[in-house]
This record gives sequence, C-alpha cells and structure tokens, in this order.
Amino acid sequence: MEKCSFCGRVKKDVNLLIAGVSGHICDSCITQAYEIVEEEARSGSSSFNTGNLNLLKPKEIKEFLDDYVIGQDEAKKYLSVAVYNHYKRLNQRVDKDDVEIEKSNIILVGQTGTGKTLLAKTIAKMLHVPFTIVDATVLTEAGYVGEDIESILTRLLQAADYDVQAAERGIVFIDEIDKIARKGDNPSITRDVSGEGVQQGLLKLLEGSIVNVPPQGGRKHPDQKMIPVNTKDILFVCGGAFDGIERKISQRLNTQVVGFAESRKAEHIDRNNFLQYIVPQDLKSFGLIPEIIGRLPVLTYLNPLDRIALRNILTEPKNSIIKQYVKLFDIDGIKLSFDEEAYEYIVDKAVEFKLGARGLRSICELIINDAMFELPSQDIKEFTVTKKFAVEKLDKSNLHRLKVA
Ligand code: ADP
Repeated sequence: MEKCSFCGRVKKDVNLLIAGVSGHICDSCITQAYEIVEEEARSGSSSFNTGNLNLLKPKEIKEFLDDYVIGQDEAKKYLSVAVYNHYKRLNQRVDKDDVEIEKSNIILVGQTGTGKTLLAKTIAKMLHVPFTIVDATVLTEAGYVGEDIESILTRLLQAADYDVQAAERGIVFIDEIDKIARKGDNPSITRDVSGEGVQQGLLKLLEGSIVNVPPQGGRKHPDQKMIPVNTKDILFVCGGAFDGIERKISQRLNTQVVGFAESRKAEHIDRNNFLQYIVPQDLKSFGLIPEIIGRLPVLTYLNPLDRIALRNILTEPKNSIIKQYVKLFDIDGIKLSFDEEAYEYIVDKAVEFKLGARGLRSICELIINDAMFELPSQDIKEFTVTKKFAVEKLDKSNLHRLKVA
C-alpha cells in the first residue's frame, strides 16, 4: 500500500501523496518540511557573519545596487565601500587586531525622491539585517513633545523581532537629518528644541554606546523595563535634502576661487549640480554640529534625476513599476506592453508636475487603473498602452491633484 515515507500515513489518511523515485511524501509533511526550511533560513539570516556576507566585495555590492537603483554611481560606490569596511570592522574583533577600524556611518545628501531611502533599503535587503527608517523630524529633546531619540532603536528592535543581538548589527536610516540642523549658523542659541539638543542626543547613538531602549517606544516611563542596546556596530545612514545648501557650496567655491586669484578652477565648476562639490564644512554651515559631522565620516551626494534617469526608472530596476504591472496582468493571462511614446509621455508629465521619481507611480496608476478594473473580466490576451490611451486616461483624471504646490 502507498504511504508517506516520512510519517507513515497511508493514502486515504492524507489529502495528497506525491510519489518520488523511491518513496512518497504527504501534504502535511511537505508543509512541515517547508516550515523547517523557512525557519532555518530565518535563523541563518539573523546571524551577521554568514559566509555569504564576507564574500561580497564593494564591486559586487554596487552591482547589486545597480539592479534596483538607477544612476547615482558616486553614492553607490561610497555606500559599497562603507558597507564593505563595516563588515571588515565587525570581523576584525574576532581576529583581535590592534588597529581599531572606526565605524563609517554615512550621510547622503540629495534632493527628495532621488533614491536615498531606496539605496539604504536595497543595502539592507542584500545584507539580510534588521533595517528601519526613522524620520528625524519627529525627534525632540527629552522633556519636549515628540519622540525620544531612543525610539529610533525601538523601531530597530521591532524590525529585529526583539532579537537584540541582530538589532545590534542592523542598519538605521535616519531620514530628513537636515531638519534637525541648528536654525541659523549661530552657536549662541542655547535652547533649540528641534535642533541642537536633538543632535546632541543623536550623537550618543552614532558614537556607539549602550543605550536603554523603551521596548514600546514613545516617551520613557519610570516603571518601564528598558532593553540595553549597544549601538557600536549599528550602521547609521543619514539622508537629507539640505535645501539651499547649494548656495553655501557655491559661496565657498567662489571664495576659494577668489583666494586663488585667476585660478582656472572656476571654469570647471558645473554650476548645474553644486552638490557634487559638497564637503563636511558645508554641512556645518548648514547647521549640523561638528561632532555629528565627525560621526558621519562618509559624505556623498545624489544627482537630481534627469529625463533619461526617469525613463530608465520606469522599466530598468529589477522590480520596476512597469515590471510590476506586467506581472499583475500576466497572472490574468494578459500580455501587457507599453509603447515607447507612452513611456516618454509619462516622463513628460512627471517632469511637468515636478513630481520626480515618486510621481511616476502615481501617473502610471491613473493611466492603468481602468484597464486593471476592466480587462480581467474580458476575454483578452494582449493589451498595449499607447500614448493615445495614456493621454486619454490622464486627461480624464484629476491629474492636478498630483501637482506639487
Ligand atoms: P528619497 O531620496 O527622498 O529618499 P526615495 O529613495 O524614497 O527618495 O525614492 C522615492 C521612490 O522613487 C523610490 O521608491 C523609487 O521607486 C523611486 N526612485 C527614486 N530614485 C530612484 C533611482 N535612482 N532609481 C530607481 N528608482 C528611484
């Protein structure tokens, strides 16, 4: 009689019995085996020192990033090297080496919607480490309305399912770091709720220390049991748009050029993209305290996205917006395609409404939503989005809703 070679149950006692070369397996054993595999994978991924991680060289890290993020080569290179060195540093203690490598926290400067968060997220995906994104604007000094600095680590702990060891090797992306800059370059301001005090608090985290974290976040509470978390090996990636920093960079470059009299340097300055010349001093002029800048030794920038980049973002990344739609239609047995002109039109609209990469998705949704609603009920095998179709749908929609003020 046919029976499961794993649990011994006979065919009539199981829902499904699958035959192999020299035995059978039942559906419940398959489920159980799958759970074991998943469990193994999970426990393996929470360990930082898996062989896999050691093998990744900066070039390979960048190649991985290239699959998901368009352009931004400079930032990718800096990130790849920083992450690679971070691993070296983590492994170093095992070797009991004398030269202590310092942590290389990163700061990414670039306009909103150019891929800062995406870069950090992609790195975390590759490393299988706990990852969290926090918004610096909600942080305030202790004693004020808002969230305590420690709540950053609460989020990381949550992302790690409260596995403290895993969290201690995670990555935290602090968005909008520019919003906690001191208002005005005036060091005499003594009380600046959302500025310097928060930077001082953040410093403690960036430096590497043992921080008592409220497990549920929010405000600290005297009776709450705290979880001590060591931030020494947590990689902090900070991002910010630093609106107006271009002016500070250009001022600095101008004074430098004047200083060098007729230096020919001035001719080589690309005035369309000042961010590429950013140095730590500019962050200080913007209002970050020198101690924070010192703890963010890797400073890099992101380029504004041009038409070509936007066009590529539509289709090139591994999980690009268009690939996702194609997949969704494919599940219904419909082959979806887009005319190149339709792509160009979508990019035109994103540029026209100054929506950047974030707007591409909203525009695509407006164009394709009717089709997603109707086509699954029709007997149709192929569908092409033409420019005409896109124009029709967008004209009908409430596009101005997307327009930024
Ligand atoms: P920010 O720089 O404000 O952190 P995000 O990384 O959140 O911007 O980007 C917003 C969205 O725009 C991303 O989720 C992604 O879909 C898209 N995007 C932005 N920049 C890029 C890029 N360089 N390559 C691919 N997609 C991008």
